[in-house]
Amino acid sequence: MSKPKIAFYWAGSCGGCEVAVVDLGEKIYDVVDAFDIVFWPVAIDTKYDDIRNLEDGEIEVCFFNGCIRNEENEEIARLLRQKSKVMIAFGSCSHLGGIPGLGNLSSRDETLDYVYRKTPVSGNEGGTMPCTTCVKDGNTIDLPALRTEVSALNDVVDVDYYIPGCPPPLPVIEGAVAALMNGELPRKGAVLSTEKTVCDECDKEKRKKMVGKARRIYDDDVDPSRCLLEQGIPCMGPATRGGCEAACPSANMPCTGCMGPPPASQEQGSRMVTAITSLIGVENEREATAEEVAEALASLRDPVGFFYMYSLPTSFLKRRYNDE
Ligand code: SF4
Ligand code: SF4
Repeated sequence: MSKPKIAFYWAGSCGGCEVAVVDLGEKIYDVVDAFDIVFWPVAIDTKYDDIRNLEDGEIEVCFFNGCIRNEENEEIARLLRQKSKVMIAFGSCSHLGGIPGLGNLSSRDETLDYVYRKTPVSGNEGGTMPCTTCVKDGNTIDLPALRTEVSALNDVVDVDYYIPGCPPPLPVIEGAVAALMNGELPRKGAVLSTEKTVCDECDKEKRKKMVGKARRIYDDDVDPSRCLLEQGIPCMGPATRGGCEAACPSANMPCTGCMGPPPASQEQGSRMVTAITSLIGVENEREATAEEVAEALASLRDPVGFFYMYSLPTSFLKRRYNDE
């Protein structure tokens, strides 16, 4: 009997999510035993036509990492959705837009201009810019155009499940693979991780007392046994889903939010403002005033980067609007 088919794909991706799959180690053999890998561009030589030639829904599960940054990413997302029964957004970029989603703070032209002309290492004296059609020796090559904005996978196709993280932590991947192989996947649309927040998994002491202004981890002595946020170190733990076992705070680095918003919270930035407001309120034993909240937020050096490092394209803000 033929095995069910499985596919892996990377779109606008750094490749870290591919490495995370390899982190499965010997458990990858269980996947190979149970499934026939029909598409995995980073590991096996298959072509888009191999996928086009499959029946609709013939792939049992597709793990899709990376954001939708160019036209090719979008085209292949639609193709794999059509050919797959279950579509899984794997990693922050696919789940929420990810770090490349901060590209939505610039227009497409600004991005291209900076990357190709203005960076100190551009070395592009002729000012050559990328084009979508190239003719060489009588042959025409079409290249994918950069989209005007970065999108998460579910902005362009229907997604069945999400595996969060940048890249997803190994226990989360193992849990998802086990659920898949045992036929125990939860309701459609679920994020395949814990319902807890990073703070719930963090064993630092919480005194519910906030130090006024934000400061940097290297600004002063930081007590490693105490909550970083309460010491003024911006930490996204209260606004971030767990599953990573608080890996960053455990190493005295603040959480940057890669696991996305916790359950019952649509987006991370507003959830984090609520968390900061409530900490100020508890500290003063009364509701925080608008001025106090504004002062705390003003002391953040990079508010968008802090609140939306991984989730700008799926936030209420989505992007900086411009003429494009
Ligand atoms: S989620 Fe993180 S590790 Fe995965 S492709 Fe995006 S930036 Fe890379
Ligand atoms: S805010 Fe950060 S340091 Fe504090 S408990 Fe939550 S995860 Fe830990």
